[in-house]
Amino acid sequence: MSATDTSAASSGVDHGAARLPDPPFTAEHEELRGSIRRWVDAELKPHVQAWEDAEWVPSSVFRRAGELGFLGLAYPTEFGGQGGGPIHEAVLQQELARSGSAGLAAALGAPITIATPPILKFGTPEQRERWVPPVLTGEKVAALAITEPGTGSDVAGVQTTATKVDGGFVVNGEKCYITGGVRADHLVAAVKTSEEGGHGGISFLVIERPPAPEGAEDDPAALGADRGDGITARPLQKLGWHASDTALISLQDVFVPEDHLLGELNGAFKLIMSNFAWERISMALGAVAGMDAVLETTKSYVAERRAFGRRIADFQGTRWALAEMGTKAEACRALTFEALRKHELGVVTPMEVAQVKLMTQRAMVEVADGCLQLHGGAGYMKEYGVERALRDARLGPIGGGTDEIMKDVIGRLMGV
Ligand SMILES: Cc1cc2nc3c(=O)[nH]c(=O)nc-3n(C[C@H](O)[C@H](O)[C@H](O)COP(=O)(O)OP(=O)(O)OC[C@H]3O[C@@H](n4cnc5c(N)ncnc54)[C@H](O)[C@@H]3O)c2cc1C
Repeated sequence: MSATDTSAASSGVDHGAARLPDPPFTAEHEELRGSIRRWVDAELKPHVQAWEDAEWVPSSVFRRAGELGFLGLAYPTEFGGQGGGPIHEAVLQQELARSGSAGLAAALGAPITIATPPILKFGTPEQRERWVPPVLTGEKVAALAITEPGTGSDVAGVQTTATKVDGGFVVNGEKCYITGGVRADHLVAAVKTSEEGGHGGISFLVIERPPAPEGAEDDPAALGADRGDGITARPLQKLGWHASDTALISLQDVFVPEDHLLGELNGAFKLIMSNFAWERISMALGAVAGMDAVLETTKSYVAERRAFGRRIADFQGTRWALAEMGTKAEACRALTFEALRKHELGVVTPMEVAQVKLMTQRAMVEVADGCLQLHGGAGYMKEYGVERALRDARLGPIGGGTDEIMKDVIGRLMGV
């Protein structure tokens, strides 16, 4: 990375005074932040609305992110990564969130944050060599496919079957709400590999799609069609995250070679659980950056907008509203950065992860809603981006484990 100008970038919100990097971020991370922020400002932000409207991010954006080295920040150099760690990837997640499109952040982030880590952590040397480097260059896209029409929170309830046959498995079932599922070149899929299924009966398979038809890389209908592999994927319409493709995937008699089994047969449950920590901390990082962005927009708006002969900012009620939201954002930042610090040291607990996910995702919804309110009718209009912030935020308390599941985890670990 060759960033030098870090003056406009900081891991925290701009309080109008120079702010030192918040631990665990260091000057080196802030330098990286500067270069990612410049890329986001110059090459992503100007296109966000078009990509939201198209419900698609062009494949060239993935390759550009790969070319700049941003997809491999936390990955070892032997696989084409930058050799950094989670704090480097955290910078990327924060800066993508500042683009104002959580869908864009999810589209670019999911392949490296949730889909490829199981391959890196649990794959054989051959599997890593095959499926990690092309995702880091942006040439290939990976998706994590666990949720099904019949099961989401109860991840052990996966019903997609993988039946053992000579040389591999035959997979049948459906996966839904899969981020990047239409575009994906391979799916890291949870499948039932025993009669009874459940905690000790599901496995991870890497299900590879044949190459996309010529000229189809940005054509969701062509990408989602059956390529003779028994897989079809179609994009689902949704409240927010418009720039991210969220797929319903059908798998019919899909043959998967046996060397595509990831980890141990019937051993996927613990791999899925171990993947959740980073997914949830990443979501918290996105929410903290998202709150900063929408608060900054709102501070500017209330300083300009006038009512009853005064700036909206001059009403005490406005100050109080912003003060409460800013304080909430700071509390979330503290909890999130602490979880990030502990995650890097390998000492974060499932309870801390659940707490940080629970607190930040709901706070993001509340802050986006409060900021929309301070915009009045303008907040309801697309052009200010605040309505998008609220729509996008609503996924937070659902995806990656719902609020209720987080509370369940916390309660149990509290010994209740
Ligand atoms: C935009 C988007 C992107 C997604 N991306 C992916 C992806 O890339 N890969 C993937 O595998 N999945 C993905 N998901 C799925 C997501 O992880 C699930 O939607 C989520 O885990 C909830 O599962 P569910 O939708 O089946 O809800 P359900 O499990 O049906 O829950 C419905 C309600 O019941 C509540 N509930 C369930 N169990 C309990 C309980 N024990 N106690 C109290 N309340 C309970 C829930 O909290 C919720 O309020 C995505 C979802 C969305 C919306």
